[in-house]
Amino acid sequence: MLDSLRTIVQQVNAAKDFSEVLRLIVHLVKQTMDTGMCSVYLYNPKDENYALMATDGLNPDSVGKVFLSSKEGLVGLVASRAEPINLEEAEAHPNFSFVPETGEQRFRSFLGAPIIHQRKVLGVLVVQQQEQRRFDESEESFLVTVSAQLAGVIAHADATGELGRLINPKDESFFERIYEGVASAPGVAIGSVVVVAPPADLKAVPIRKTDDVDAERCLLRQAMEQTKRDIRALDDSMVGKLSDEERALFDVYVRMLDDHALGGEVVSLIDEGITAQSAWAQVVLKHVRMFRSMKDAYLRERASDVEDLGHRVLAYLQQSETKRTSFPDNMVMVGEELSAASFADVPLEKVAAIASVKGSRNSHMAILGRAIGIPTVMGVVDLPWGGLEGEEVVVDGHNGQVVVCPSDELREAYSQQIYEEKLLAADLEKLSDEPCITADEHKISLWVNTGLRIDAMLSLDRGAEGVGLYRTEIPFLMLDRFPSEEEQRKAYREQLEMFAPRTVTMRTLDIGGDKDLPYFPIDEENPFLGWRGIRICLDHPEIFLVQLRAMMRASEGLNNLSILLPMISNMPELESALELVYQVYDELTEEEGYQIEMPNVGAMIELPAAVYQIRELARRVDFLSVGTNDLTQYLLAVDRNNPRVAGLYHTCHPSVLRALWAISEGAKEENTPISVCGEMAGDPIGAVLLIALGFDVLSMSATNLLKVKAILRQVSLAEAKQLLEEVMVMPDAQSVSKHMEKALKKPEVAGLFRRAELD
Ligand code: PEP
Ligand code: MG
Repeated sequence: MLDSLRTIVQQVNAAKDFSEVLRLIVHLVKQTMDTGMCSVYLYNPKDENYALMATDGLNPDSVGKVFLSSKEGLVGLVASRAEPINLEEAEAHPNFSFVPETGEQRFRSFLGAPIIHQRKVLGVLVVQQQEQRRFDESEESFLVTVSAQLAGVIAHADATGELGRLINPKDESFFERIYEGVASAPGVAIGSVVVVAPPADLKAVPIRKTDDVDAERCLLRQAMEQTKRDIRALDDSMVGKLSDEERALFDVYVRMLDDHALGGEVVSLIDEGITAQSAWAQVVLKHVRMFRSMKDAYLRERASDVEDLGHRVLAYLQQSETKRTSFPDNMVMVGEELSAASFADVPLEKVAAIASVKGSRNSHMAILGRAIGIPTVMGVVDLPWGGLEGEEVVVDGHNGQVVVCPSDELREAYSQQIYEEKLLAADLEKLSDEPCITADEHKISLWVNTGLRIDAMLSLDRGAEGVGLYRTEIPFLMLDRFPSEEEQRKAYREQLEMFAPRTVTMRTLDIGGDKDLPYFPIDEENPFLGWRGIRICLDHPEIFLVQLRAMMRASEGLNNLSILLPMISNMPELESALELVYQVYDELTEEEGYQIEMPNVGAMIELPAAVYQIRELARRVDFLSVGTNDLTQYLLAVDRNNPRVAGLYHTCHPSVLRALWAISEGAKEENTPISVCGEMAGDPIGAVLLIALGFDVLSMSATNLLKVKAILRQVSLAEAKQLLEEVMVMPDAQSVSKHMEKALKKPEVAGLFRRAELD
C-alpha cells in the first residue's frame, strides 16, 4: 500500500494541472483497490453542494453535471459527518439516494472518505463495487490517507481559483483570484506585473509572448548549437578519464537536443507565439517532471540530466537577451525569491508594490519595502508568478494578499482605499512637530526602529524622539561577509550622528531564527528555538567583541549610544554578555585612550523565561526593552512567519497582555526604565493597550509613528486604563480587539483602523 501511495503522490506531483490530478487519483485508486469505480466530489461554495468532478467507473458524461447537497445521499452524509462511511450494502442505508445520470445502480458496496483541509470539508472520495463487498480496515485507512494527501492539492486549487473555475466554468466571478501571503510592508497598490527572475533558473522563466517567431527560433538554434559544442568539448576532455560507456551519456545529451527530441517540441511551442526562453523552460520542466515520476530508479535519476541540459541552454538564451528598458509606471515586482539585488533590474521610482513567492517579514526585500514605503507581500506560496507578466494585480500589504484579475467591484474598493490612505497620510504629516501627549496630558515618548539609512531619514522627518531599536543585523545582511570593525564603526557613527543628541539604542547582532546571513548559514530543524541572537554572539566572541568595539568607538564625542542585548533567556547569559561589554569598554578607554562615556546597557524581554525573572534582570541592567514580536511567538507557540498559523498569532491574546502587565510591574518595582519595541507598539490598538499597561516609551517603524501619535493624542490615559480593565477579563484575543476597536472608533481616528477593519 505504501508503494502505491508513493506512486500516487509522485504522479500527482508531476501532473500538469488540477484536472489531471483528479483524473489520476480516481484512476490510480480504483486500480490499487481493485474496485469497480472511484469518484471525487468537490465542494462548490457557490451553491453549497458537492459536484462530481472526476470518475473512473461512473458515466464519464456526468462529470461536472451531478451536484449533491450535503443532505443528499451517502456522499452528503460523509461530508456532513466529516468521517468515513463503509457499507457492504449501500442501498439498504436510509440515506442512499439514486442518481440516474451516473449509472450508479450497478454498485452495491460503498466506501467514502471526506477530504478535509484545515477543518474544512473540501470534498468526498468514494469507491464502489458491483458485488457485495466489505472493504477491510486497511482499505479504509488507505482511502483516508489518499484523501488527506489530496486535501493539500485541492486547497491549493481552491486558493488559486482553479477549483472554482473548474466547477463553474462560465462564472466570471471565479476569474478573480486571491493569494494569501505574509503582510510585510503596509499600503495598497494596483499595478501591472513585471516578473523579475534570477538567471538560468528554469522555474523562474516567465511565460512571455513574441511577435517575432523567426528570431526566437534562431535564438534557440544558436543556444542549442553552443551547448552541443560545449558538451562535445567536455566529452573530448574526458577521454581516458571516463570509460566509453560512462562517456556515452554526453552523446545522449547531444541527441536530446535534436529536432525529433526536445528541440522539436520547443520549436512547436515557439511557433505558437511564445519566446524561446519560455518555450524551452516549459518543455524541459515537463520532461523533468515526467522522469521524476518514473518507477524505475535509474530513469528517475535522468531527471537531473535533463535539468542540467536545461540550465545550459537557458544560460545561452539569456546571454543573448537584450536588457529590458521599458517598464509600466505602476509596476508590481513579482518573483519567486526577490532579493535586494532584484532592484538592480528595474527603475525604483516606478515600483508600486512587491510580491514574492518565498521569504517572510524579515527577508531583506521586506525590510527594504518597509523602509522605502512600498507595499510588500512575501511568502505568497501559491502565486503562479511565472505566468503573470503584464497582468493587473492588487497588492494589499496590510492584509498580505495579492489579487489577480480583480473584479471591477474590488478594484473600485481598493482604489478608494488608496485615495483615502493618501489623504490620511497628508493629514498625519501635520502632526510631525506636535508632541505626543494624551488627552489628559500624559507625555508618551515615540521612538523609532531603524536599520537602514533611509528609515533613519524618514524617522527624523516625522519627529522621532530617539531610536529604540537599531537592528544591526540589517547592515550585516547587505554584505557577502562579516563587516570589518571600521565598516561597522562608520555605519553606526552615521546613525548616532543623525540622531544626536537623541539616544540610539543599538541591538547587538540578532541573527538566527529566520534571519540568516548568506555568508553564515545556520541549518537547523528548529531555528527559532536554536542558535539565535545572544547565543551566537557568546559562542563567537570574536564577532561580538568587534561589534561592541565598533559601537563604542562610533559613539566617541557623541555619547548617545545605548546597547541592547537580544534573546536573553537566563542570568548567566546576561552576566557573560555584560562582562564582554565591560571588557571592551576597559580596553578602549584604559588601554587605547578613547574618550568614551560608558553606554547604558539593556536587555530585551522577549522570551517567557525573561518574564518570570523580570526583577532579577531589571536589577542587572540600565534599561529593558520588550520585543513583543518574539514574546508573542514564544508565549503562544506560533511561528511569527508561518501563514498557516497566522490566525493564532495575536498580541491581544489575554496571556500576552498578562505577561506585559507582569513585565511592566516588575520593571517599575526595580525602578528600571522600560520601553516596547515590537510591532505592537506601532499598532493603534496595541499602543493604547501598552500605555494603559504602564509603558510610556514606544518604539516603532517610522511608517507607523504618526498614526500612533494621532490616536494617543485623542485618547486619555484614564480612558485607556478603563478599557484595559474591561479587556483584561475577556477570554480571547478576538473579543479584546473587537472591544478596543469599537470603543476607539471616534470619527477623528476612524481612518487609522482601516487595517483592523479589513482583518
Ligand atoms: C521583537 O522580537 O519584538 C523585536 C523587536 O525584535 P525582532 O523583531 O527583530 O526579533
Ligand atoms: Mg526579537
